[in-house]
Amino acid sequence: MNDPGTATQATITLKAKRDQSIRRKHPWVFSGGIKRIEGNPQSGDWVQVCANKGAILGWGHYSPNASIAVRMLTFDEAKPDTQWWKDRIAQAVQVRRDLNLIDQPDQNACRIIHAEGDGMPGLIADLYGNTLVVQCHTPGMHHAMPLLIEAFTEALGSTLHGIYDKSAKTLAKNGGESSTDGWVWGKAPEEPVAMELGHRFQIDWEQGQKTGFFLDQRLNRSLLGQCAKGKKVLNVFSYTGGFSIYALQSGATEVHSLDSSQRALKVCDDNVLLNGLDATKHKTIQEDALEFLKGDSLGDYDIVVLDPPAFAKRASARHAAIQGYKRINLRALENMKPGSLLFTFSCSQAVDDAMFANTVVAAAIQAQRTVRILHRLHQPPDHPVSAFHPEGSYLKGLVLRVD
Ligand code: SAH
Repeated sequence: MNDPGTATQATITLKAKRDQSIRRKHPWVFSGGIKRIEGNPQSGDWVQVCANKGAILGWGHYSPNASIAVRMLTFDEAKPDTQWWKDRIAQAVQVRRDLNLIDQPDQNACRIIHAEGDGMPGLIADLYGNTLVVQCHTPGMHHAMPLLIEAFTEALGSTLHGIYDKSAKTLAKNGGESSTDGWVWGKAPEEPVAMELGHRFQIDWEQGQKTGFFLDQRLNRSLLGQCAKGKKVLNVFSYTGGFSIYALQSGATEVHSLDSSQRALKVCDDNVLLNGLDATKHKTIQEDALEFLKGDSLGDYDIVVLDPPAFAKRASARHAAIQGYKRINLRALENMKPGSLLFTFSCSQAVDDAMFANTVVAAAIQAQRTVRILHRLHQPPDHPVSAFHPEGSYLKGLVLRVD
């Protein structure tokens, strides 16, 4: 199969010392580290990356309009061929099969490719039952779609019935390439429903956020389930009710799901029925979370979940993001009742574990509450982190007992 953009070979030579991180297998080449570009590469083309003195460091996809100009896909001298794509995707699928996340009667939804964590920067692929939703963040990955389809269909075999390409927004954001979302292989299932640890969820991949669902909270939802029996739970930034369904299933007396999106809350209500749960125990609240948290109704709940969207998408927004986390956690901690639990999260890549924990501790000090850290939470193993790319560890959470 032809891989577009390979007709002429392009080479990028790095400035002195800028090869060091690449030799440590960190996959990003910043535009400021480039000394010379030969061969006139276009957006999305393969480029060979060389050290200042000419040693070949590997191959990556070129994004001329981004600060990360090259995302490395291999640190070998040989350029990836069709078999390379098949091997890498087969290996990623095997990792998830070994974790029993695919094709189980009670579990069939997981992330199959987590970008750098699976050695495929620029690519996200989430499996929902028999449907794979692929999201390309770089033109290079999108140009490789025919190869991706071949590799995914081979690796997933009869599990896979359809592949939906949801790259329009992410590509427009990262370099401006235009693309239309839609089915690129197979067909849509009759019922867009996925199973997560025995819980059923309707997945809205066409209109929903990201690929349609937040698979990264699976284990943290399960932990909430362990604590929720007999409790009254408030799920703030609920989206389609991931945490809410686990709480209800585990015997929570009442669950309130709060989100600003009417569409997400409608799916949340549908998910309650889909799981055969008692809808009278569930209420949706469509409101701005910051406004709601200003009120004093938090004192009514035994457990509060705060899972906001990423406040900092890049390092330059870190300061404002920290203020945002401090504000919502302070409001919660000021008003929660003694003996209650706070599940609080950040999915901002630019805010690391320590920074987030310090921010929450600062909020606890200001709220003058006694707070114990019961759990430190992270993303699950189908969102792996390359040991050479710690930035991939983006989800962090704390479970606090508030007295
Ligand atoms: N906890 C969810 C994922 C949350 S995603 C899960 O487990 O699936 C973040 C959610 O925050 C989105 O649904 C978005 O609509 C909502 N949101 C963003 N800004 C908000 C605001 N100011 N007030 C309330 N909800 C908001």
